[in-house]
Amino acid sequence: MAKMEPGAVTYFEGKYIPAEDAKVNVMTHAFNYGTGLFEGIRGYYCADVDNIYVFRLKEHIDRLVRNFNILCMEIPETAEQIEDICLEVTRQSGFREGIYIRPLCYKSELSLGPAVRGVKSSLTCYAIKLGDYVDIKDGLDVAVSSWRRLADNAIPSRAKSTGSYINSSLAATEAKQAGFHEAIFLREDGTVSEGSAMNIFMVQDGKLITPPPTADILVGITRNTVMQLANEMLGLDVVERPISRTELYVCDELFFCGTGAQVAPVRSVDRRLVGDGHPGVITKKLQEVYFDVVLNKVEEYKHWCTPVF
Ligand code: PMP
Repeated sequence: MAKMEPGAVTYFEGKYIPAEDAKVNVMTHAFNYGTGLFEGIRGYYCADVDNIYVFRLKEHIDRLVRNFNILCMEIPETAEQIEDICLEVTRQSGFREGIYIRPLCYKSELSLGPAVRGVKSSLTCYAIKLGDYVDIKDGLDVAVSSWRRLADNAIPSRAKSTGSYINSSLAATEAKQAGFHEAIFLREDGTVSEGSAMNIFMVQDGKLITPPPTADILVGITRNTVMQLANEMLGLDVVERPISRTELYVCDELFFCGTGAQVAPVRSVDRRLVGDGHPGVITKKLQEVYFDVVLNKVEEYKHWCTPVF
């Protein structure tokens, strides 16, 4: 797990302060009820130009701000200001490597009572160093979780709320305790949803298939990136439709994607090999294209990469 870096700077209560000084009161609403909404955004360091490129910053902040409506949140900072804050904490933290930026909007009032409307919210934002979050070379061994994915009308996954990550933590821990790298969540109806912190794609007959936005998923920015790159750069069809559990056992290729996971091949599900147990041709091609794009090497997608310095 990634830890706070010495010298890192956090945006907290409207100021840039040393990360170790950004502390909340135990009565904070979000601390008691999980009423925070957040984003996870990667910055990729390019040594040749000595700069960090933040990937799809605008889309991440747009998702965050749209989700405010779910928790009836209002904060003084505008979307443009939140984007600037993400860049500024990175600059002030002095990083010169791969990073992960975490803007977090939370119910900051010191008040008890489970409510969302009329409870004051605040923004904080910090950055940490981050390399590969999961193995992206050999393929992951994953298991279908005994934990079901949160239903949208219970705790909406699309909101990316702090409280909803109890669901992810339970599934990830169960998988690791049983000797797997990751978990796959099914929904209450038994169809496939996503991983603990990543979306899932299946390759079948040269087509990409992924659960739709109504499958209790967080609608990932990387998911959208993969769909666009598969279609526009590799000429592949992409289909959003419900996926049954056993389709995972018989598909040609399987991979996860997410800001943390990047593009991560899956080599087995429930101890059954996916294909021949090696990362598939399409998965590898997508990985290659993905890394070219995030490292600001592809002209058509340079607008997705925001330089920090
Ligand atoms: N699903 C969940 C539950 C996640 O936590 C994440 C990581 N943010 C994703 C999917 C992937 O989303 P994104 O590509 O926007 O990072």
